[in-house]
Amino acid sequence: MKISVVGTGYVGLVTGTCFAETGLTVNCVDIDEKKIAMLNKGIVPIYEPGLDRLISKNKDSKRLFFTTKIQESLEGASAVFISVGTPPDEDGSADLQYVLAVASDIGKYMNNYMVVVTKSTVPVGTAEKVRKAVQKELDARGVNIEFDVASNPEFLKEGDAINDFMKPDRIVIGVDSQKAEDTMKKLYKPFLLNNHPILFMDIPSAELTKYTANAMLATRISFMNEIAQLCEKVGANVNNVRRGIGSDQRIGSKFLYSGTGYGGSCFPKDVKALIKTGKENGLPMKIISSVEDVNDEQKSILFKKLINHYKEGIEGKTITLWGLSFKPNTDDMREAPALVLIDKLTNAGAKVKVFDPVAMDECKRRIGDIVEYSNDPYDAANEADALLLVTEWNEFRMPNFEILKKIMNNRVIFDGRNIYDKQELESKDFIYYGIGVTK
Ligand code: NAD
Repeated sequence: MKISVVGTGYVGLVTGTCFAETGLTVNCVDIDEKKIAMLNKGIVPIYEPGLDRLISKNKDSKRLFFTTKIQESLEGASAVFISVGTPPDEDGSADLQYVLAVASDIGKYMNNYMVVVTKSTVPVGTAEKVRKAVQKELDARGVNIEFDVASNPEFLKEGDAINDFMKPDRIVIGVDSQKAEDTMKKLYKPFLLNNHPILFMDIPSAELTKYTANAMLATRISFMNEIAQLCEKVGANVNNVRRGIGSDQRIGSKFLYSGTGYGGSCFPKDVKALIKTGKENGLPMKIISSVEDVNDEQKSILFKKLINHYKEGIEGKTITLWGLSFKPNTDDMREAPALVLIDKLTNAGAKVKVFDPVAMDECKRRIGDIVEYSNDPYDAANEADALLLVTEWNEFRMPNFEILKKIMNNRVIFDGRNIYDKQELESKDFIYYGIGVTK
């Protein structure tokens, strides 16, 4: 079977590559000519562990192709997956211009039955808009070609995307015809054979499932960040509280880590879009609105702690950031807490030195040279008045504190991910601040 995947970003590239790995012939399409040229040369434009090897294997096996021409990709395809971006519009709603532009292109060029699948995260009602956009072009061409629409939201996590795609907890597919369901079942047959559940449902429920999942995860994070603040007031330790509740099977242990707030390309925009969907339907989303408010404040938490420590101000002080990406194992800096911190620190007159194992180029691309880029973590911490741990990359987990002791101007560590032990650091003569950690 043959499919087309339109949009070759984190989601499209992983989706196309993993489908090729299961034996389908996949054409990945993007309007970004530079990106497609790189992929055709075997250069992977994003950092995602294991993806380069899988791409080259499937390219060599002639199952995975990259093109800028959507028309070619649709020839004989059983399905086309729309996986372009849906960034927030000015009012917080998902901007559907890219999705609908692709839908129009599909209508312009399709010549056989196919399922038009939205894989991008889109609000309820988008599949209907996609259907209309495709049909409008078919009408303009004066042709009568049957097609179905479907919603197949993606739940992969950057950094572990291949695993998530190949071994999903579940696959959610919204359809409104038997033919579409049968086609999707065929495409996902290898996953069914491996006992990964496929949940077929109506299209609006599938569309809403994605937002609800991300909003739930964001809620857990903001909830724990609020509890962390309470811990600091009452002299408790949020790590103990987390362990205490996480061992309750009704709660589970995931997404209960307090830190510097959630970022990335999904949670912030999906939370905003869900609030907007509620508003449009006359339903103020009180819980999720608070989740967003708590998170916005949380992104400044290390800055607040720093200012509280250096009561005289931080002008002229050297502040080191370890970690720039919004989470480990990705170079993605969309909505990263590090960006908020850098902004506040530089505005306050601090000299900011940064190090990240993979996101340095991305940071340069975004903010240029307003910070000093260091070659390694210790170079970054040299002569620092404070070290802010922002992203919990593995290589930051067990630093050599003896070296840090020697090279830092002031031994103050702000641990934005609670990965160090307060007592251990205090015994080594560091001043330690965690998030919700008082003991
Ligand atoms: P991305 O920005 O990394 O990639 C989108 C790609 O689409 C870009 O390469 C862009 O050039 C291309 N594009 C835009 N318009 C196009 C057009 N008309 N034709 C062809 N290509 C076009 O985005 P992403 O992170 O992969 O996210 C895509 C969607 O998936 C979003 O809706 C996002 O919310 C959702 N999602 C993302 C993740 C994630 O972890 N990144 C996880 C699940 C769902």
